[in-house]
Amino acid sequence: MYGKGLLEGLKITVGHLFGKTITQKYPEVKPNLPPCTRCFFELIEEKCIACGICANACPNNVIEVQSVRGEDKKRKLTGYKMELGYCLFCGLCVESCPTDALNFTQDFELSCYHRDNTVYYFVEGQTDENSVEDKVKKSEA
Ligand code: SF4
Ligand code: SF4
Repeated sequence: MYGKGLLEGLKITVGHLFGKTITQKYPEVKPNLPPCTRCFFELIEEKCIACGICANACPNNVIEVQSVRGEDKKRKLTGYKMELGYCLFCGLCVESCPTDALNFTQDFELSCYHRDNTVYYFVEGQTDENSVEDKVKKSEA
């Protein structure tokens, strides 16, 4: 029949007009991502024992852990850097962390213009462990 394809197309279009809305008004409304989404990282500094297992597990040498030995002989975290431009988001670092100090977050808005801005200092490298900051700092271009 002539126009059959047109009618079938219209049927699909009308069906979507009155069907359930599946689009999301991003960026006004943030999307509901699955819990397993791997976008960014969070380091819970208090939980980190500076063992370096995450850095050793990483196949791309994304992670750099700096630490000093305290008077109690335990390692204290003084720096934690990630070069996310090389990250595969494979999750080996998160899986290997023995204290659950490293986790994925759903913060996916990471686009930037300069490669230097893909370097993140979760703990800025310090020699004075008392002045370690616990904020995530994006490096300047
Ligand atoms: S997700 Fe994979 S590639 Fe990225 S830092 Fe962790 S181990 Fe390395
Ligand atoms: S994040 Fe986990 S695996 Fe990495 S140094 Fe800290 S405690 Fe060790």
